[in-house]
Amino acid sequence: MTTHLPTFDYRRPTSLGEAVRLISSGGSSTVVMAGGTDLVPKMKRRQLTPSTVISLSRVTEMQGIRYQDGATTIGSGTLLREVVASRLVPEPLRLAAATVASPHVRNTATIGGNLCLDTRCNYIDMPEGWRIANGHCLKDGGDTCWVAPRQERCWAVHASDVSPIAIAMHTNVRLVSETGERIIPLEDLYANDGINNLTKRRDELLVELKIPSIEMRASYYKLRRRGAIDFALVGAAASFALEEAGSAEDVRIVLTGIASAPVRVFEAEQFLVAEGLSPGSIVEAAGIAGSCVRTQDNTDLGSRYRKWMIPVAVQRVLEGLAMNTNERSADRGTD
Ligand SMILES: Cc1cc2nc3c(=O)[nH]c(=O)nc-3n(C[C@H](O)[C@H](O)[C@H](O)COP(=O)(O)OP(=O)(O)OC[C@H]3O[C@@H](n4cnc5c(N)ncnc54)[C@H](O)[C@@H]3O)c2cc1C
Repeated sequence: MTTHLPTFDYRRPTSLGEAVRLISSGGSSTVVMAGGTDLVPKMKRRQLTPSTVISLSRVTEMQGIRYQDGATTIGSGTLLREVVASRLVPEPLRLAAATVASPHVRNTATIGGNLCLDTRCNYIDMPEGWRIANGHCLKDGGDTCWVAPRQERCWAVHASDVSPIAIAMHTNVRLVSETGERIIPLEDLYANDGINNLTKRRDELLVELKIPSIEMRASYYKLRRRGAIDFALVGAAASFALEEAGSAEDVRIVLTGIASAPVRVFEAEQFLVAEGLSPGSIVEAAGIAGSCVRTQDNTDLGSRYRKWMIPVAVQRVLEGLAMNTNERSADRGTD
């Protein structure tokens, strides 16, 4: 396995203006790097061989957490360690961020890098020699997706642990380029395509997240092999605002580790709004979530197992919320 990095130009802008200028003038072989915990291993495996890497680590406008105008704003360059530790960040998001990787990785990884994380697959996250021997897959410049060879798309999986809870909590993101800026709902950042999984333009930077203060309960449940470190086999976030005892409005259920984008399970959400929250309706909503989503054999463990676990994850996150306890939330999602 090649373990050294390929050669590239390294740029470290110190302002947002300089960063977007560099990206805009760079070609398609220019990439941005935040913590580099995902990007650098990919470069070592030669999944990416950019000519220029633009580090965002010195861009002060992308740092820090503040509460302003009824929303918590988190700079995309904020380390996950800082997100986990900050009392300004709503607890469900802190608990979900604490499930990403390990303390070592969270000391370097950023929240923006987590939201912009590339999709993962057993056929792409492999050493270069393995990929050559196997035949390059669609995402790797070949013409076939080895997960579903008869289909014309790439099925690599969205694996962020922060995106589902952030979507459940109605988060917006600010995108900035040299030509302007826009604020969009986080869920609109994603496309269900393993190769083009982000809808933002190449020259746009994700600068900050804005989490509105809405009266709601939210939680994230992560199923993984090992509690100490591992990507989600299935991750489920849920949120709801309670009108009165047992009746819910504005329910959101969002899955990760299943498709090439975070998946909102609208059918299960609508069912809970109509039926209210009860032990029976939660079990039924979890079943609906399981039947709405298809898994592929492209990440850890088999697709059938992960499909079985979708209703389990959804039921657990909803039950935890309904009981208004934190016991089943993110930091316990390891069984
Ligand atoms: C051992 C290990 C375990 C891991 N486990 C998990 C896990 O359990 N859950 C999980 O979610 N992730 C996991 N990861 C993946 C990764 O470490 C995290 O998702 C991390 O948050 C990525 O952040 P980063 O700052 O390092 O991103 P980087 O690697 O710097 O960037 C990731 C991608 O985002 C793009 N990007 C970064 N910032 C911006 C921005 N501001 N605007 C536009 N594009 C941007 C980069 O170009 C790159 O494509 C793991 C990684 C490792 C090495």
